[in-house]
Amino acid sequence: MSAREWLDKDFYRELGVSSDASTDEIKKAYRKLARENHPDANPGNAEAEKKFKAVSEAYGVLSDPDKRKEYDEARALFGSGRTGGGFGGFPGGGPGGAGGAGGFDLGDIFGQGAGPGGPGGAGGFGGLGDMLGNLFGRRGGAAGAQRGQRGSDVETDVRIDFAEAVKGATLPLRLSSPATCGTCGGNGARPGTSPRTCPTCAGAGLVNRNQGAFAFSEPCPDCRGSGHQIDDPCPECAGEGVSTRTRTLTVRIPPGVDDGQKIRLAGQGEPGKGGAAAGDLFVRVHVRADEVFGRSGNDLTITLPVEFTELALGTTLTVPTLDSKVSVRVPAGTASGRVLRVRGKGIAKRDGSQGDLLVTLQVVVPSKVDDEAKAALEKYADAVAKHDPRPEITALLRDRGE
Ligand SMILES: [Zn+2]
Ligand SMILES: [Zn+2]
Repeated sequence: MSAREWLDKDFYRELGVSSDASTDEIKKAYRKLARENHPDANPGNAEAEKKFKAVSEAYGVLSDPDKRKEYDEARALFGSGRTGGGFGGFPGGGPGGAGGAGGFDLGDIFGQGAGPGGPGGAGGFGGLGDMLGNLFGRRGGAAGAQRGQRGSDVETDVRIDFAEAVKGATLPLRLSSPATCGTCGGNGARPGTSPRTCPTCAGAGLVNRNQGAFAFSEPCPDCRGSGHQIDDPCPECAGEGVSTRTRTLTVRIPPGVDDGQKIRLAGQGEPGKGGAAAGDLFVRVHVRADEVFGRSGNDLTITLPVEFTELALGTTLTVPTLDSKVSVRVPAGTASGRVLRVRGKGIAKRDGSQGDLLVTLQVVVPSKVDDEAKAALEKYADAVAKHDPRPEITALLRDRGE
């Protein structure tokens, strides 16, 4: 990417924020877009992948106060179009200004950042750092010189059924993330070929240009500042040096996991750089609601519709448990809404804790009754005519002279 392309891009518009947006606003906008367009959520969707890369690039610049300042200044100087002039306004524009390369922490997407992004490398998402590194004259597609940087933490989501959450489950998890292209090793050239040194700038990535009394350095137009040209691009990454890596992991969900709970897979995040430890992978579990059962801590809950007569006369009900059934005795005269506790039929966790099954009895009133039932009900109503179900209220109304 050349400085001109960089200037032509409206990173603010890409993220849908105003140019005076706060760091927080930028972060928020980025996270939303990155989630929506993440390759994991949009397999095979080239449009989403393109957008994902674009917002990642925008965020890589706007999230870094120094780079954002540079970008803003450059835009102010040259406008967002190509208003000519040189690019002398770029700090660090000289050869060896590798400081421009910045970190881009995958963790930022998910708020699980492994500390400050730090100077980024070419591994994983760091490809952006390289693009920018190239812009500022840093040559070569390989990882930067930083060493000992722990890999970023990564967060992903899984959706499981209620029963799986209660009993635990083992799931395959497919993860994809941008990584240094394995086909070309990141240099962007078709295997067997290699990038050649750009003849225009002799590999410097910059050309000098005289304008009046001043000499400007600007990124080489022929190699887009990279210092090399690729005649035969890598078929895997189309010369970008970055491709999507997909890997499959097995995740064991422990029994009794709650909706929204995160499971940590140590060392399964982004690889560390310079021999440092890999980051962790956090799997956030989403539990689909069940039509019958609910959950309250370790207790399983169920609402059982009953007839008025069942509560009034007493009965024995068969109640489903998660994988079997139990008989529950309902004493005569049980109130509607009463909760019966069946010990030990709830959620068993690995730590040995064991919940109960809570059965809520709920009277259902039929919307229609047949003639026979109606006659019986009317007879019942006559029989209880002298009984007042709401004496306190009757007393209150009487006090008011009703
Ligand atoms: Zn490649
Ligand atoms: Zn060149």
